[in-house]
Amino acid sequence: MNLRLLVVEDDREIRAMMQSSLSVEGFEVQTAVSLSEARAMLQHRTPDVVVLDLGLPDGDGLALVALIRQRHSLPILIVSARHQEAEKIRLLDAGADDYLTKPFHVGELLARIRVAMRHRGTALAPAVTEHRLDGLSIDLAQRSVMLHGRALHLTPTEFKLLARLVRSAGRVVTHRQLLSDVWGPEFTEHTHYLRLYMAQLRAKIEADPAEPRHLLTETGVGYRLATA
Ligand code: CA
Repeated sequence: MNLRLLVVEDDREIRAMMQSSLSVEGFEVQTAVSLSEARAMLQHRTPDVVVLDLGLPDGDGLALVALIRQRHSLPILIVSARHQEAEKIRLLDAGADDYLTKPFHVGELLARIRVAMRHRGTALAPAVTEHRLDGLSIDLAQRSVMLHGRALHLTPTEFKLLARLVRSAGRVVTHRQLLSDVWGPEFTEHTHYLRLYMAQLRAKIEADPAEPRHLLTETGVGYRLATA
């Protein structure tokens, strides 16, 4: 059975492009051009994934994120021409899984959909506890971090921060989420902690900390552990 994907997008060209390229990947693609149409479709049938534009003729896509999250845990990917960081944070906090800024490549959209599906996936899927990429090998159960076969020594806080990113590998994690999960809910404004510890982690993990390969910055929003 094909996975059902609902694309909510009012731009005809982008909608057609997503429909054809995602169908080729085996998704059963349905499209809606407005919030009201999307709402009607969601009542009729629950899709497996929603790809959502923000600027829609009858309102803001954010309203749909809130509506979907009241009842469903399915992955929601935002595609938007908007660049404001505050906007992205608002969306992620409202329950969106990830966002892509237009213009984007379909390959990137597919990669993000797969990551979001893996994380939301089935409730039975085991939590992510291992991560391997380009000589970096992390095993959370063993508490080991290896770089090209050599064990790295991390402080407890560095390890906690890295572990949080491993559990969301491939997805952006907001500053607020990281500060809350690693230091505690009362530390969500202490972004300087994050900058300091991220710099320390990069110094240990990255070949060139100024051009990170693993610990990627999402400017103004958060960090993402690269998975490819
Ligand atoms: Ca639009």
